[in-house]
Formats: sequence, structure tokens, C-alpha cells
Amino acid sequence: MRKGLLFVVSGPSGAGKGTICKKLIDKMDIELSVSMTTRKPRPGEVDTKNYYFVSEEAFVETIQVEGFLEYAKVYGNYYGTPKEIVLKKLEEGKDVVLEIDIQGALKIRESYPKGVFIFILPPSMSELRKRITGRGSESEDDINLRLGETLKEVSYIDKYDYCVVNGDINEAVNRVAAIVKAEHSRVSED
Ligand code: 5GP
Repeated sequence: MRKGLLFVVSGPSGAGKGTICKKLIDKMDIELSVSMTTRKPRPGEVDTKNYYFVSEEAFVETIQVEGFLEYAKVYGNYYGTPKEIVLKKLEEGKDVVLEIDIQGALKIRESYPKGVFIFILPPSMSELRKRITGRGSESEDDINLRLGETLKEVSYIDKYDYCVVNGDINEAVNRVAAIVKAEHSRVSED
């Protein structure tokens, strides 16, 4: 049986990668991996749906048993991709999308080079600030921290296979969906 494809979506905080991934799974036969994090839930976030919200001790234990495909510290909290769940889905022929930060994407590039790496860009820095501020969930310090990271993150764009600018959300989702379809027509390299 053909294995599923692994898509890795990352980009600056506020670029809209979360919304793109949610719309993508509504539209296509692809599953979104649920990460584990030590961050506290935001209002409306549900444990096991948005993230597995865990203590730092539980996170460290998972690191020790090599339970992550990758993990990273992002904006002061740990985030990691559960290994077994994702590899099992790929084995079963299901496509999986990871919405993770750039450090994590670079680690997957090494450990799973067959992955397809998509970078989401906001249309401008001012639009990015507006989006992060509009979420109303981050403090001013946190907003500045996230914006400060953006320029550094954009410098890694050449490590990705594709770049999608998220000006209009539906157009951006269509572009990512087109990438998923195109990857299914790729002539195998192995
Ligand atoms: P947020 O706190 O806004 O949900 O996520 C903060 C950042 O962590 C985002 O850039 C998000 O893509 C990233 N992130 C979420 N899950 C993971 C993960 O499992 N691994 C890594 N490396 N980053 C993640």
C-alpha cells in the first residue's frame, strides 16, 4: 500500500497557518496532527482537540522515551509532535499535516526528508501585527516577541519547498490544496 504524505506547514505567528490547516482538513482527505504543549490553553481551546495540554514533567518524560518526531521551545513553551500517532497514520496511507514552527520543520527535514515543506507568509508586517493584536489573546510583550521572531524566521524560507502568501484566506487554502494534489502526482524518487 502507498504510504501517506507528510506535509509540514510553518511560518510566522499570525500568518494564518492554523486557519489554513483547519480549512484544508475540511476540504481534503488529510489529517491534522495534534501536538503536545506545555502552554496554557487559550479561551475556547479544547484539550486533545487543539493540543494535548500537559505539564512540563509530562513533556520531559515524553522526550525521554523518544515519543516525539520533533519538539522545540517556542515563545517560552514546549511544543512537540507525537511520533507514533503520525507514523502510524502515514503507514496506513493517510496524509498528515503538521502545523509547527520553523525549528521543528528543520528537524523533520533531517529525520523525514520525504516531507513536503510549505511556508506561509503574511502579506505585510503591518497586516501581521494587526492579526496578532486582533486575536486578543497575547500580551503586548508577547506580541512584540512574536513580531521580533518574524524576520529571523523568514530568512529560512529557502529551506522550504513551497511558499504561499496568505492575503486572501480562501485563495491561500486553494493554493495549499493544489500543492497537496500535485504532490500525489509526483513521480517517486526512490
Ligand atoms: P501557539 O501557541 O500560537 O498555538 O503556537 C505557537 C507556535 O508553536 C506556532 O508557530 C506553532 O506552529 C508552533 N507549534 C505548534 N505545535 C508545534 C509542534 O508540535 N512542534 C513545533 N516545533 N512547533 C509547534
